[in-house]
Amino acid sequence: MKIILMGPPGAGKGTQAEKLVEVYQIPHISTGDMFRKAQKEGTELGLKAKSYMDQGQLVPDEVTVGIVKERLAEDDCKEGFLLDGFPRTVQQADALDGILKELGMALDRVVNIEVDKAFLVDRLTGRRVCRTCGATYHVTNKAPKVEGVCDKCGGELYQRNDDKIETVSNRLDVYAAQTAPLIEYYQSKGIMSSIDGSKSMEDVLADIRSALGSK
Ligand code: AMP
Repeated sequence: MKIILMGPPGAGKGTQAEKLVEVYQIPHISTGDMFRKAQKEGTELGLKAKSYMDQGQLVPDEVTVGIVKERLAEDDCKEGFLLDGFPRTVQQADALDGILKELGMALDRVVNIEVDKAFLVDRLTGRRVCRTCGATYHVTNKAPKVEGVCDKCGGELYQRNDDKIETVSNRLDVYAAQTAPLIEYYQSKGIMSSIDGSKSMEDVLADIRSALGSK
């Protein structure tokens, strides 16, 4: 199963992606996670991405497309993958088209999680992430058993710089201007399914699974 998971920041893409990759046994390719890992490791890629991410802006396409191309060429992507947070511009979608053609692959489906803007600010500013394993929580909707501590690995929970209120509105504007046009792009290819992301996590997952067909 070769899937793109789309939706505005805060739509719950990361949470749904974690479940879907378990169900379909496919790798989870999140460009945001790749950039955060690179920053943590202090690599050149991490340094390049940091200033854009901290401002809620997109990392330039030439950087982003390159890391996705390398990742998709790895063996574990042959049978399928879930792209989360990529593509984010029409140019990236065109580049992805070219990469998949080169690799002899085609997308099965693009799933778009729709959520009203009013919910998104609360979801984003309340989000906390584990510094060690990357698991995500929310201060009220998905609180950890012990405040500030990851249920899964005991790691420290923190608020991403780009989840701070001042950056969130920037990210939502960038989404509306640059990423939302992709909805029409994939609709016109006949592979888009839109899902109501305001429901419970379990219901959203069930809706996505039924849109994807099997399993
Ligand atoms: P995310 O975790 O997907 O919300 O991504 C966090 C940040 O990483 C974004 O706000 C961007 O600065 C950067 N980023 C992630 N994916 C992309 C992408 N496909 N294109 C450009 N920038 C990206």
